[in-house]
Amino acid sequence: MKTTDIIYLDNAATTRLSPAVLDAMLPYLNDCYGNPSSLYSLGRQSQTAITKAREEIAQSLNCDKREIYFTGGGSESNNWAIKTAAAILAESGTLAKKHIISSEFEHHAALHVLETLQKTGFEVTLLPVYKDGRVRVADLEKALRPDTGLVTIMHANNEIGTIQPIAEIGAVCHERGVWLHTDAAQSVGKIPVDIAALNVDFLTISGHKIHAAKGVGALYINKRIKFGSLIQGGGQERGLRAGTENVAGIVGLGVAVREAVDGLEAVTERLLTLRQKLCDGIVKIEKSHLNGSLQNRLPSNLNFSFEGIEGEALLLHLDLAGICCSSGSACTSGSLDPSHVLLALGLPHEIAHGSLRITTSKYTTDAEIDRFLEVLPGVVGRLREMSPLWNK
Ligand SMILES: *Cc1c(COP(=O)(O)O)cnc(C)c1O
Repeated sequence: MKTTDIIYLDNAATTRLSPAVLDAMLPYLNDCYGNPSSLYSLGRQSQTAITKAREEIAQSLNCDKREIYFTGGGSESNNWAIKTAAAILAESGTLAKKHIISSEFEHHAALHVLETLQKTGFEVTLLPVYKDGRVRVADLEKALRPDTGLVTIMHANNEIGTIQPIAEIGAVCHERGVWLHTDAAQSVGKIPVDIAALNVDFLTISGHKIHAAKGVGALYINKRIKFGSLIQGGGQERGLRAGTENVAGIVGLGVAVREAVDGLEAVTERLLTLRQKLCDGIVKIEKSHLNGSLQNRLPSNLNFSFEGIEGEALLLHLDLAGICCSSGSACTSGSLDPSHVLLALGLPHEIAHGSLRITTSKYTTDAEIDRFLEVLPGVVGRLREMSPLWNK
């Protein structure tokens, strides 16, 4: 099948480049190859392009341009924020602030970092997630301790798209003098993100979730905080993130953020219409369940479980029909464990196994949704006919 015939409904996994992003990147992959740290004009050209991208992102997300630091993606930004914050908190008095609060359904780029920190003496509390797919501010208030130094809660979940009450969490954290990091890899460019209003100290951005390139991202660091580095070496990024900059990637990220934020209103309206159509079509399949509430959810996300079938089988059969979706289970590792996100919602293993994540983008068409809805019931029906789980 030609890639142009593929129906791509896995935009929470990654997205295609926007044409404007590609156009903006190309010169920096070609003639404008100067090192941004070099003093001659070929280098300064690259430095100027990075400055412009930083300004575009700061303006679009309402922060100061000196608070945006470019990284190698969302995973690095999460690692940087959490590991370096923990190191600073530990130094200020031999693990005096040794307690970190997070949630059960964070991305592994946060959860695995927290597991590592636990091995070195930090204590971690994971807040529960309720059926609607959200944490509760009251649970956070109860979990806070005198030795809590950091809270890290994602803005929008990557599997079920539910949006967390970050501004309220930020207010509670700041009243108690606790730092707050939010992983906004799934929210920037998809819902309004006003960093000042969110009340956060650190915020993770990933390029490839919003039609920029893979391997580029950013970390917002509140300028009140004297932070340290994760990657050490040269003096790039004001001495906080070493390594010759990914100039083309950064230029593309600037354009992608601006484009997504400027076009947000119009795109949101379209995506909500598509989501309604999808939802109306899918609920006609018997024994299908929506995971997480439709309230406080990304317009681009739906996640359904189908009783009696395995998510992996569903994916493979959809792939044969040229449709790309993802299952809550398996995730990146190809493991057969059910998704930790769906288990956190309290779904039983059998139902967590039969999940399907459908994520749209501004490039998704009405015709693609129609085609998907034509194909899906037949696939679910055929898999159920073969399933011992279903016949019981
Ligand atoms: C994709 C994603 C990441 C990781 O970002 P990369 O740029 O792929 O490293 C982190 N958190 C969330 C919520 C994501 O969706």
